[in-house]
Amino acid sequence: MPGQFHLYQFKAGEILILKKQHPCGGRLWQVERAGAEIALKCLTCGHFMTISRQKLEKAVKTVQSNTDQNSG
Ligand SMILES: [Zn+2]
Repeated sequence: MPGQFHLYQFKAGEILILKKQHPCGGRLWQVERAGAEIALKCLTCGHFMTISRQKLEKAVKTVQSNTDQNSG
């Protein structure tokens, strides 16, 4: 069963892996701002977008906790 994010509370700084690949080839997005709409930044190309939480919940494959990874 694919995981479903039921009213998942996105937080700024979290890293999300989306199901759909960005045209740049990346799938990692960082939450810049969380509210009624979520602001995301592509970690591969730096593209910025906003998406409603409802849509984002369906688009997210995995949520990576904001650990102390050193990724540039
Ligand atoms: Zn990108």
